[in-house]
Amino acid sequence: MLKIAFHPCYAHSLPEGHRFPMLKYELIPEQLLHEGCIDPENLFEPNYCPDEILLWTHNADYLEKLHNLTLSASEQRKIGFPQSAALTQRELMITQGTMDCCIYALEHGISLNVAGGTHHAFADRGEGFCLLNDMAVAANWLLKKGLAKQILIIDLDVHQGNGTAKIFESENRVFTFSMHGAHNYPFHKEQSNLDVPLLDGTNTATYLGLLKEQLPKILEELKPDFAFYLSGVDILETDKFGKLKVTLEGCKQRDAFVLETLKDKAIPVTVALGGGYSPDVKTIVEAHCNTFRLAKDLFLMLLIICSCFLNLSAQAQFSLRGTVLDSISKQPLVGINLFLSHTSIGTTTDQSGHFIIDRIPQGKFELVISSLNYETRTISINTGQLPASLQLLLKPTSNELQEVIVEPYDEDGWDRWGRYFNAHFIGNSALAADCKLLNPEVIKFRYSRKFNSIRAFSREKLIFENKALGYQIQYLLTKFEYNLDERSFFYSGYPQFVEMQPKNTDEKKRWDKKRKEAYQGSIMHFMRALYHDKLEQEGFEMHQMLKVDYPEYKRASNLFKAYSKALKNKEPITISKDSLEYYKKASKLGANEYSVMLDQIMTKDDVLAPIDTSIDATAQFMGFTGWLRITYQHKRDPIEYARITLKRIDRINSDINLPNKIGLSIYPNGTYFYGYNLFIEGYWSWWEKLSTHLPTNYQPELP
Ligand SMILES: [Zn+2]
Repeated sequence: MLKIAFHPCYAHSLPEGHRFPMLKYELIPEQLLHEGCIDPENLFEPNYCPDEILLWTHNADYLEKLHNLTLSASEQRKIGFPQSAALTQRELMITQGTMDCCIYALEHGISLNVAGGTHHAFADRGEGFCLLNDMAVAANWLLKKGLAKQILIIDLDVHQGNGTAKIFESENRVFTFSMHGAHNYPFHKEQSNLDVPLLDGTNTATYLGLLKEQLPKILEELKPDFAFYLSGVDILETDKFGKLKVTLEGCKQRDAFVLETLKDKAIPVTVALGGGYSPDVKTIVEAHCNTFRLAKDLFLMLLIICSCFLNLSAQAQFSLRGTVLDSISKQPLVGINLFLSHTSIGTTTDQSGHFIIDRIPQGKFELVISSLNYETRTISINTGQLPASLQLLLKPTSNELQEVIVEPYDEDGWDRWGRYFNAHFIGNSALAADCKLLNPEVIKFRYSRKFNSIRAFSREKLIFENKALGYQIQYLLTKFEYNLDERSFFYSGYPQFVEMQPKNTDEKKRWDKKRKEAYQGSIMHFMRALYHDKLEQEGFEMHQMLKVDYPEYKRASNLFKAYSKALKNKEPITISKDSLEYYKKASKLGANEYSVMLDQIMTKDDVLAPIDTSIDATAQFMGFTGWLRITYQHKRDPIEYARITLKRIDRINSDINLPNKIGLSIYPNGTYFYGYNLFIEGYWSWWEKLSTHLPTNYQPELP
């Protein structure tokens, strides 16, 4: 969806008679909504950009002046606005808006901010109606977060992007391109990577000619993976300060050329407005609205392009932000750990209780918020419907809850029950030997005579070190139960993965290799292959399994005999090939076998159906009856597994069914909900343990 950053505070009130047309910020979304170009859901309200991100671009001293309103009179005069807390907040919000737009642009190709493009702001000062350089802040943020490697800033405001040029003068990863009036403000120009100065009175044809000459050349040479477009409309012939002679239609052609050229090269772009000072505000609004109208048409085209590459698309990434407060005192909580369960994605709250979780891949996750002195909370989040900001209230741990933990436990728990825990939680595969629990003392065991079962619990996180795969796993255990009669076990909890630091490149290589081995043929690998319709390519085969009991065996035998006879006598038979195959196989089963695998290979379409996109944009629904056998072609049963199961070594296979007759939602990253609706037998039931787990954001390196 086309996402547009806007907040009512963008239209900041100024002293009467001020020459800056603040009204435009209010009128642009109003006009777009009115004409039906956008719906309210296209708009989103950004939050305040935190200082820690601003500091990658701006000086601490300068930020302090903005926060404490201690800009001198002359500093304010240069900026052109009187300082106020509301003005500072507006700028923080606009800057965050441009950053948020980048995420949406990475996802959809384009996103726009109804303000911003404040290119006269320097690291240590503001001028020309610009306080914070939103594009510079966003560009530095993209680089820091690894979301872009080479950025192009296309600045077509009539005034030179002097602040931006200065900020990036020694940063090769950001290329600044500015086309501007040679004899216009700022009178002292900085040096952009490419400046195209324009003579007073430059007309539409000359203007577009220069642009069409330069932009494709830059793209060809630079090959940027992200672009910012500053679409100032002060190039218009009607503009009070512009001194150029570009028509309204020409301005629209400029936008169309920039956006289409970027679209052709599949370069995501964030657009911010920049200036515009035509005396009639209607002209300004009309010119800016043209940019949005073009973006919307362009967005529709991008959708079509994207859907063709869905399987190949680099992962769209999302971010989640919010604040954590004490539910009683409403005070911000510092240092609270938040993480997405089963991933290596997480963060902690800062001094003001804020958090940002970046680089969330598409999908559905459990967000876990935990702290020793507060009750753990979990919230389902779906990248298709992320809230703009989350406010989370944590309840202090009550005394009652602590008493439960203090209940008597088995003093020699580890000696008596530890092996069950190790076998069913950590696993028995070759990798398990290198996966150690570092704080066994936090686990308490309790045996129930009544149920002949063992429970394990812990108030603190279990900390495992998996030296085979290079992860530390912090596990918040909510339940572990092993039933000695049925030999069944159940556990649930929230693992957080933390990458270990390799000692040297050899160790790093070893981990990468082991991770890939662990991934190949795993349930995560299968679910991803199934979702993306690549079962065959990824080495999986899926067949229907029919379970057979003794009466069914007799029935099938009799039927097969009858059909064979009919076949021999050339009598007409009405039976499908599938059924005949089943009867034949069932009638030939030996005493120890109880299931029949049909020959026909099943495909994605046999078991997956799209979910109504209004409910969930990315999930697909998995439903089937009976059992499926999943075979992975490229791996054979490990010896440890064959030994336990007394199985002849073969290609690994696992059987799955849906015991509750309820299907699963599957996501592009291979996660599925809810795990308890999937019953697994065979290889996966032995393999899928803590020691073999990979975070769901794991991606194998391509060969
Ligand atoms: Zn301007």
